[in-house]
Amino acid sequence: HVKREGKNMYQFFDESIGSCSDSFLDLETDLQHAIERQEFQLFYQPKLDLATNRIIGAEALIRWYHPEKGMISPEQFIPVAEQNGQIYEITKWVLKEACRQSREWTKHQLPSHVSVNISPHHLYRRDLVQTILDTIKESGIQPNQLEVEITENGLVQNVDTAVETISKLKKIGIQVSIDDFGTGFSSLSYLKTLPVDTLKMDRSFIHNLSEKGKDQMIVQSVIQLARAMKLTVVAEGVEEEDHLLILKEAGCQIAQGYFINRPVPNNEYVKWLHDSHFDW
Ligand code: C2E
Ligand code: MG
Ligand code: MG
Ligand code: MG
Repeated sequence: HVKREGKNMYQFFDESIGSCSDSFLDLETDLQHAIERQEFQLFYQPKLDLATNRIIGAEALIRWYHPEKGMISPEQFIPVAEQNGQIYEITKWVLKEACRQSREWTKHQLPSHVSVNISPHHLYRRDLVQTILDTIKESGIQPNQLEVEITENGLVQNVDTAVETISKLKKIGIQVSIDDFGTGFSSLSYLKTLPVDTLKMDRSFIHNLSEKGKDQMIVQSVIQLARAMKLTVVAEGVEEEDHLLILKEAGCQIAQGYFINRPVPNNEYVKWLHDSHFDW
């Protein structure tokens, strides 16, 4: 609900109060200081390999602790940062922090695979690949420890450029996944063109998985399609044991969701790893 009014003017329509407020502009100003004031933090949510019952790594999810407003969801501030270009600095920070953390996990013999969410805007800038390469080198991790998740919608805006960038990332050894698969405007034919490794089924399909309905048929079909195309398939939003059993039965390889663990700060994540019944 963002309305552009002339140059650099934004209004944010707040549905809860039914009026326009200037909170969008506030966010933009406050975001400028968020990195230097160290207001960002990464939370980690484990990924479970359903065949081995082992934790293989975690997805990094950004959190913003605003000094006055408290925690602001990425769903609120990432779109703002994407519009004004602040996303580039944020992504650099996320990559650096996630790779540093992955290196730490390796040192402590913890599952060291990390995935980061990359805003589709980056695909269309020349420096993404170089930034990732530099960050990997600086941190000392192996390229195959890093995975980037890109939402489906972003990939299809300019398929040729997306293919080019993803190919470069793959050449370096980085894994690439399509996030929120099934909710975008993409067509199945892009699966032929985009050299991705993984499909991440959107959590909206998982929510009612226990009911023998359309979601179950879609999920089972996506799993079969992915497997036939030699793609890894991940389910996000696994909230119940039933979901896990159905996914396993259907041949899904990796699961993520509150039933396994919520995204939490690194110290809590590491504690959970040791306390949980999962191995790695
Ligand atoms: P996403 O990458 O699809 O991440 C999954 C979202 O679902 C996360 O929300 C996660 O906390 C939530 N989730 C995980 N398990 C469950 C579950 O079992 N049930 C339910 N209901 N939700 C679950 P979060 O952390 O608020 O992030 C929202 C979105 O913001 C992400 O969606 C991603 O698109 C974006 N995002 C997060 N961190 C970053 C980042 O560092 N950079 C960029 N560009 N985008 C980010
Ligand atoms: Mg993601
Ligand atoms: Mg997702
Ligand atoms: Mg999402």
